[in-house]
Amino acid sequence: FGKDLPLYIEVGMGKGQFITELSRRNPEINYIGIERYTSVLYRALQKRELLTEECGEEFPNLRYLCVDAKDLPNFFGKGEVDRIYLNFSDPWPKERHARRRLTSREFLARYEEILADGGLVEFKTDNRSLFDFSLEEVESGWELLVCTYDLHHDKELMEGNVMTEYERKFSNLRNPIHKLVIRKPNRNAE
Ligand code: SAM
Repeated sequence: FGKDLPLYIEVGMGKGQFITELSRRNPEINYIGIERYTSVLYRALQKRELLTEECGEEFPNLRYLCVDAKDLPNFFGKGEVDRIYLNFSDPWPKERHARRRLTSREFLARYEEILADGGLVEFKTDNRSLFDFSLEEVESGWELLVCTYDLHHDKELMEGNVMTEYERKFSNLRNPIHKLVIRKPNRNAE
């Protein structure tokens, strides 16, 4: 990035609307969007290019990584990341696929490795089963700071909320949006 700033990442960025808007609002933070499919990342790059051409916006604090999130510890050092966003992650409804859910304990262990002390994970979804599953998974030492089943009717939590593509789509269908925020476990204090 050329500037040593706090690092926030979005895992499963999709077409990038959320992280692009965050990077625009917060020039004092560096952002990396993680997306495993080149075809999807390509759409994000096209949108970015259009914004640069039409509005002259450069997004110097926004980069991308086209990798599978299970490999995150190979790409980030221990404690390098300050915040992780998970938005409308794939639900993987079959029980035998539970480990693929981005809020499974297997993924939380990977996040714990790369997060700085006190680092946060923020998760939004309209999928109640995935949300309830996630709440069970975070019981393993993570501190639950925020938990709502209806984000869009919580005035305080909606302050500064940035909509994702899926959030707009599902809230237009009147699906309630669930959100949780968790803090990395302090294993020294246990
Ligand atoms: N976050 C966006 C939103 O809220 O609009 C996109 C949500 S879309 C349902 C989930 C995205 O996560 C897809 O683009 C998918 O390719 C990506 N994804 C799913 N599992 C992933 C993984 N293990 N590593 C990286 N990206 C992943």
